[in-house]
Amino acid sequence: MIIDGHTDVLYALFRQQREFHNESPHGHVDLPRLRKGGVIAAFFAIYPAWSDFDIARGVDAWLNLVENPINSLLHIKKVEDIAKCRDEDKIGAILHFEGSGGIDEEFFKLRSYHRLGLRSMGLSWSNVNKFATGVSTGEKKRGLTYLGKELVAEMEKLGIIVDVSHLNEKSFWDLVEVAKKPFIASHSNSFSVSDHERNLKDDQILAIGEAKGTIGVNFCDLFLSTKLKSEDIGLDKIKDHIDKIVELAGINSISLGSDFDGASVPEVMKDVSYYPELITHLDENGYNKQELEKITHTNFTRIMKECW
Ligand SMILES: [Zn+2]
Repeated sequence: MIIDGHTDVLYALFRQQREFHNESPHGHVDLPRLRKGGVIAAFFAIYPAWSDFDIARGVDAWLNLVENPINSLLHIKKVEDIAKCRDEDKIGAILHFEGSGGIDEEFFKLRSYHRLGLRSMGLSWSNVNKFATGVSTGEKKRGLTYLGKELVAEMEKLGIIVDVSHLNEKSFWDLVEVAKKPFIASHSNSFSVSDHERNLKDDQILAIGEAKGTIGVNFCDLFLSTKLKSEDIGLDKIKDHIDKIVELAGINSISLGSDFDGASVPEVMKDVSYYPELITHLDENGYNKQELEKITHTNFTRIMKECW
């Protein structure tokens, strides 16, 4: 029973002109492959989410997707909905904005989108916006703005999980100072295992553990290894990242956040139907049943309960 912390399937369906309910040879995620992978629920990112227009277009596409019964999706708004997915044989879909650029400064839109089911949001997608500073900007001194700190407080009040993947380090540490609830890095790996700028330094991983948050391991080949070629990356490399995060932050702070349909991934995790191979690999290499439950879903459901 897997909860995937980050997929870009919405964007991929649009780009690749394919249908969610049909199995496709393209991309990584669709309904048949989610079922084969044992996925019970996933965070569906709206990307890009830099502007008002991006978000409005994304939400429209999202509502069309989740409301069409042919897609067998259940829009997850509270944690109990996940159990409903099992009973009704549906896949849970959690609405996530990958960036906050389109949100107004008084949070009118944020409150409306929350009513429409928004449950998780990244403060920036690697760029600079009025709230935060992303990682690919080269900016070292600019972090969260005053408005960004207000945004975090409003998100916590409403029940929208704060996602730090894509933030620069200054924004990350500014958030640590103001966060009152657990936060997540929905799709990031360990920098000490693979020195990519999107990965988390050891002290960041420790801070997420202290905040009782979680880190979704990302299968992007470059984030898994900056040295190996994609075809040489094995399941053991994914496990290296998991092991490192567990060593630093503990088993309560590790989850799965594939980045499927948003990244280039190695052959061993070619699409979402390959999840059982990874779980078997972890099972055969030292992770027991209870630990696997935490990695696959209960760390996320615990945070949902606390934040939503
Ligand atoms: Zn991303």
